[in-house]
Amino acid sequence: MSEKKVRFVYADNAATTPPHPEVVREINKYLTEGWGNPSSLYGKGRDAKHAITDARERISSHLGCSPNELYFTSCGTESDNWAIKGAVSANRGRNHIITSAIEHPAVLNTCKSLEKQGMRVTYAGVDSDGFVNIDEIKSAISEDTLLVAVMLANNEIGTIQPIREIADIAHRYGALMFTDAVQAVGSIPVNVSDLGADLLAMSGHKMHAPKGVGALYIKKGTKIANLIDGGGQESKRRGGTENVPYIMGFAKALDIACDRMADTPGLIKMRDRVISELSKIPHSKINGHLTRRLPGNVNIAFEYIEGESMLLLLDMAGICVSTGSACSSNSLEPSHVLLSIGVPHEKAHGSLRISLSHDNTDEEIDYILEILPPIVERLRAMSPIYPGNQI
Ligand code: PLP
Repeated sequence: MSEKKVRFVYADNAATTPPHPEVVREINKYLTEGWGNPSSLYGKGRDAKHAITDARERISSHLGCSPNELYFTSCGTESDNWAIKGAVSANRGRNHIITSAIEHPAVLNTCKSLEKQGMRVTYAGVDSDGFVNIDEIKSAISEDTLLVAVMLANNEIGTIQPIREIADIAHRYGALMFTDAVQAVGSIPVNVSDLGADLLAMSGHKMHAPKGVGALYIKKGTKIANLIDGGGQESKRRGGTENVPYIMGFAKALDIACDRMADTPGLIKMRDRVISELSKIPHSKINGHLTRRLPGNVNIAFEYIEGESMLLLLDMAGICVSTGSACSSNSLEPSHVLLSIGVPHEKAHGSLRISLSHDNTDEEIDYILEILPPIVERLRAMSPIYPGNQI
């Protein structure tokens, strides 16, 4: 244990990540100097245009696609909406979508809204580790299936899905394969052709770029309608003057993230240390697969106590974690992901997500492991349902 006590530990990187200092410098450069409109014909505009062309080339080389298959958006949610709604409106002959029960609300609620408009949607279940039930996909798919939408990595339990296998099934029936890779890009190597994806969504703020920038990969030849009509930006496929500073920050963040992937074994070591130490707490259980999960993701259920109480006590100690996904944390309903993998309501309520990044240190892990177990003990001592506490 280090002499100096850590006072602030950010361990909620699946919710958002702090922008990297080099990313901030890059953004500032394009706010203060490179602020031209890329559509303007004079030098300042042309400079901005060259800059985003360079960003597009760098991002697409990381993903193994061509620059003209990459379209900038405002966020992961927009990319998810565009992929699904755009595919549906451009391919009217087919009426069926297959997705999974553990998708992010940006996908689930988009599918629900299309259901109201007459689309048929199959929500394939998952096993106890969070892997999509492939047999359910095989039995649901038909010549009527337009799109299969399964996320690459889950935002709560970190499970990494076998997208290639699912894409092969989709393609056998002439359906498109869309994967929400918002949690994966920048965290694990992502190559669109290896995955067999026709459409792939990503977001800047999960990889140390700011909130408010994302992208959609659209494989050449994929029929997809526009979501946002406007001027001629993004090859006339996504209107709106480009957010040049954030696009540049996004490209810089992905460059850095890809460099840092060489340190993934170190991140996995930290994650596994947290998993093995916290698993020693009685009546605790890791949610999700032990190894086929994102390198920084820990999700653990502590029976007999509430995740919110743990979160607040950890916050008082300067530690930021999450009880479910940030997007649903204003709801008292247990996480749909944990319920789908078969975690009972009461255990789902006592679950914590600790999501680490390369910025976390061994000293910070020491601090989490010093602070969290006594919190669990303290809350259990007060819990009327903890065995032995009943009068
Ligand atoms: N998809 C997944 C898997 C996510 O984790 C998130 C954000 O948490 C999103 C989509 C939405 O991305 P954004 O916050 O950029 O809209």
